[in-house]
Amino acid sequence: MRLDKFLADMQVGSRKEVKNYIKKGLVQVNHITVKQDKFQVNPEIDEIFFDGEKIEYQEFFYYMLNKPAGVISATRDQQHQTVVDLLQAADFRSDLFPVGRLDKDTEGFVLLSNDGKLAHHLLSPKNHVEKEYFAKVAGIMSGEDSAAFARGLLLDKGEVALPGELTILKVDEESETSEISLIIHEGKFHQVKRMVQAVGKKVVYLRRDRIGGVSLDKALALGEYRPLTSEELAVLS
Ligand code: URA
Repeated sequence: MRLDKFLADMQVGSRKEVKNYIKKGLVQVNHITVKQDKFQVNPEIDEIFFDGEKIEYQEFFYYMLNKPAGVISATRDQQHQTVVDLLQAADFRSDLFPVGRLDKDTEGFVLLSNDGKLAHHLLSPKNHVEKEYFAKVAGIMSGEDSAAFARGLLLDKGEVALPGELTILKVDEESETSEISLIIHEGKFHQVKRMVQAVGKKVVYLRRDRIGGVSLDKALALGEYRPLTSEELAVLS
């Protein structure tokens, strides 16, 4: 890998800035000052210092984001703010992407990463990774609905949703609204909304609270994010 790419990837500065640092003699490879930006390094083996400080190599990045409504689960968009746009400049990398999608109006846990292998593991339908949602529903959810969710549901367009675990948290007879938690093991388009629709009710608010064994950190306000801890990463991998 080129030395300037390594430094930019490790967020020492932009590609232009790091080229300047290299030219100025601020970068050493294996204790020798290198002034060519295209100098080839092996980040696994070489010791690279910037301004006297060793730059530790990190290939993959993982952030837990609490997505607000109105933001889309994409990397770039002409019209809308994306989940990647919520990253501060120092954390931005062009290879970060959301692992799975939430609808524009859905809030909650989005994992941002550049690790394609982990993304595949979490998203592959055959791995049945659990996702837990909290929803507010227009309509009264019943025990019959829980049983129907547990059997699996016929969605619109003839699609079938695998069994999900529905817990009814609250029912307000007066306003005819309910609050539910739902655990599903797949990620079909609009899945939660369509499952609720299949029993004749409507999701009016949706939030993802958990992916696999990792719950959304309640300390994160909407729009905030933090790196996954190594324990959380181990649970997801
Ligand atoms: N199910 C939905 O309907 N929407 C989401 O954003 C996620 C799951």
